Amino acid sequence: MRLSRYFLPVLKETPAEAQIASHRLMLRAGMIKQASAGIYSWLPLGYRVLRRIEQIVHEEQQRAGHIPMLMPTLQSADLWRESGRYDAYGPEMLRFSDRQDREMLYGPTNEELITDIVRANVASYRDLPLTLYHIQWKFRDEMRPRFGVMRGREFLMKDGYNFDLTQDDALHAYNRHLVTYLRTYERMGLQAIPMRADSGPIGGDDTHEFLVLAETGESEVFYDSAVTDIRLGDRDIDYDDVDQCRAVLDEFTSLYARTDETHDEGEFAQVPEVRRRTARGIEVGQIFYFGTKYSEPLGATVQGPDGKQVPLHMGSHGIGVSRLVGAIIEASHDERGIVWPEGVTPFHAGIVNLRQGDPSTDSACDGIYRQLEASGLTALYDDREERAGAKFATMDLIGLPWRITVGPRGLANGQVELTSRRTGENEAMSPESAIARLKEIYADV
Ligand code: ATP
Ligand code: MG
Repeated sequence: MRLSRYFLPVLKETPAEAQIASHRLMLRAGMIKQASAGIYSWLPLGYRVLRRIEQIVHEEQQRAGHIPMLMPTLQSADLWRESGRYDAYGPEMLRFSDRQDREMLYGPTNEELITDIVRANVASYRDLPLTLYHIQWKFRDEMRPRFGVMRGREFLMKDGYNFDLTQDDALHAYNRHLVTYLRTYERMGLQAIPMRADSGPIGGDDTHEFLVLAETGESEVFYDSAVTDIRLGDRDIDYDDVDQCRAVLDEFTSLYARTDETHDEGEFAQVPEVRRRTARGIEVGQIFYFGTKYSEPLGATVQGPDGKQVPLHMGSHGIGVSRLVGAIIEASHDERGIVWPEGVTPFHAGIVNLRQGDPSTDSACDGIYRQLEASGLTALYDDREERAGAKFATMDLIGLPWRITVGPRGLANGQVELTSRRTGENEAMSPESAIARLKEIYADV
């Protein structure tokens, strides 16, 4: 993309309404614009990041055999009356009626809708196990929408639902989701720690939240610092292997890590004092096992192997897709702007032309731009008639992890500069080497 033809409305001033770094930087970098309280338009740069996050979520869910679909944002109140949640949900649910006076709502979550689909179409234990998911906008009329996309009213969520014959099968689905979530966050350059949590209005017995440690996080968390040393990495996982998934859960959840809702001072005191930490965290996902809480009232049963009808064992599993954009920035920025991890960057590299209009510099930039695109890498080429300082400031603000700087002086020696946004390190090299280096870097992402 050539910047001269792009739509990147960066702000010079720091918007006064933004209280935390990610909100400020998303506004300044022209990623979002508020439409009304807690509701945002995603401008082109922000939209690119959102799409990359969605892509990673899709890949990791499908790797585990979970099946993508799409349910609507608007739901009928009738189903929620059947489950008993229509009255229970409270003022966070946006309710309205259509022209026929039918009561409707904008879905805050989808347990009822998915259970309705499954009860109508799944009759036998032979159709199980089944995990369906979608990535769709939700609406919750939050009391205090704030921090930009972190606590919106309209927000994008991945929500997945498993349907199993037995509690054991459903617990395997729970563990399998835990593994997929760990991998998903690591690919985004994030450490999100599973912590024992409270189930809230979703209900159920088993639940973990995934928290990214950050001073601006809304949750208070208590943990054994040794938990921050564990990584999933690129180990091979067989998602059908019950013991292997269970072992990952044990590894990641046997050390003390809890949100304030489930925190227990007595148990925390068992953690060696030097490793005891109290901090704040951003909730970027949550997994639940809730057994037959929805399948019983909604009559979602299957015929078991012995011919008897049994209610399905279920769980639901959410990832805050739009919140993640903010969470990643909270975890990765400096005083000059955003520092995107390679896994989610809106463009793989930036190209800065130091002497726009100089024929040989322009043609070197064009060549690099075309070769990057031909190698499947996206570039944002700053081809504007601007001072070098202003171009660097824009690149630093929008945070592309790598920048290729091209000017007449370097070109005289056949060289450009490759700069890491994270470390600020510069290296002079031929354009071909810079492209080869980037290909190598992104081959592992
Ligand atoms: P919170 O405790 O932050 O209100 P929740 O526990 O009610 O969230 P879940 O039902 O677990 O939310 O939804 C799954 C994920 O969706 C959360 O882990 C979070 O990342 C994201 N999410 C929830 N509410 C919002 C919101 N208002 N704005 C943006 N993302 C949200
Ligand atoms: Mg939650």
